[in-house]
Amino acid sequence: MIPYSRQDVSQSDIDAVVEVLRSDFLTQGPVVPYFEKLVADYSGAKYGVAVNSATSALHIACLALGLGPGDWLWTSPNTFVASANCALYCGARVDFVDIDSKTYNMSVELLEEKLSLAEISGCLPKIVIPVHFAGQPCDMLAIHALGQRYGFKIIEDASHAIGASYSNADLQSFTNEEKQSDFIKVGSCTHSDITVFSFHPVKIITTGEGGMTLTNDVAVAEKMAMLRSHGITRDVNKMTSNPDGPWYYQQVSLGFNYRMTELQAALGLSQLERLEAYVKRRHQLADQYNQDLDSLPLIRPWQREGAYSAYHLYVIRCDALKRKLVFERLIMAGIGVNVHYIPVHTHPYYLQMGFHAGDFPVAESFYADAISLPLFPMMSEVDQAIVINQVREAFLA
Ligand SMILES: *Cc1c(COP(=O)(O)O)cnc(C)c1O
Repeated sequence: MIPYSRQDVSQSDIDAVVEVLRSDFLTQGPVVPYFEKLVADYSGAKYGVAVNSATSALHIACLALGLGPGDWLWTSPNTFVASANCALYCGARVDFVDIDSKTYNMSVELLEEKLSLAEISGCLPKIVIPVHFAGQPCDMLAIHALGQRYGFKIIEDASHAIGASYSNADLQSFTNEEKQSDFIKVGSCTHSDITVFSFHPVKIITTGEGGMTLTNDVAVAEKMAMLRSHGITRDVNKMTSNPDGPWYYQQVSLGFNYRMTELQAALGLSQLERLEAYVKRRHQLADQYNQDLDSLPLIRPWQREGAYSAYHLYVIRCDALKRKLVFERLIMAGIGVNVHYIPVHTHPYYLQMGFHAGDFPVAESFYADAISLPLFPMMSEVDQAIVINQVREAFLA
């Protein structure tokens, strides 16, 4: 069986987790803050707040930016449901902006169009969540500029995109060398308020379950840290009265238990050392797919100029009938394929909120003919050749 994605757990990962198991703290010890610091340093952000999933990260990110009843949150329909559900957790309303037909990320043109209409009708979003689909960075410079103009906050759902980067330069006016030297990491929050990473085992690096929020705003970081742990503080400066004694703490907001354990952070720290190598390997495999699938009547992933993908997914498109044949053939051959994503608004829960099939046609047509081929760092050349052969055969059949 060749899975569509698989974690890579090394002996050093296992040793790191075992070391924590033998230590004094399984939770709320020194490893989580260290993991936060290293991920923040790597990404170029000031603060990291580790949590038990990206879903929790999205929730506290929305709360920390003040999302609540009466507010709108917009995201991409081509994503996992968690990118939209976070709005509903906060009692806010959710809407979508259709995707670009090349990148499969939220279309900046459609976002701009929808914003100008929303301004007239007085229902501008409080938060927009661009999703870096498949690890390819969205056009953050353009989205950030729209955020400045229309006054919305930005949370990047970078669940697919730790290790991705993009040019911070104006592509029109810079030479190739300047573009290269001006690359910044997804997660630096240069063009957003908060970025969210996922460490689910199918993602780029894993902590089993886990996620992190990154921000450059100390007040937002402190809010998220408090929300992660019941809304409780032990910081005298954040209390409403003097402490009753050294045991004292106060609950000052309604938070949750979204904490990451020390074991998870130890695994994450150990994985982080291989992050760059992982992304490099993903690019190698993607290049090989690109080369070997070149002659077939299918659309390979298109890469935006000035962007370096983390290549979480390798998605091809062909006609809908062929897609079904390819899918079935690969499953029969013991190859794990997948389809990303069922457009969020077409799930029954969203349909009963008033969305309709046809609302976001580009995401829907993408869903109708897309297929994600296996891609993970430990995939061997032999395994990839088997996949490529099966895809070829499916097209000849
Ligand atoms: C995986 C994923 C999530 C949720 O991540 P968890 O860590 O499993 O909660 C959210 N958004 C996107 C785009 C994802 O791919």
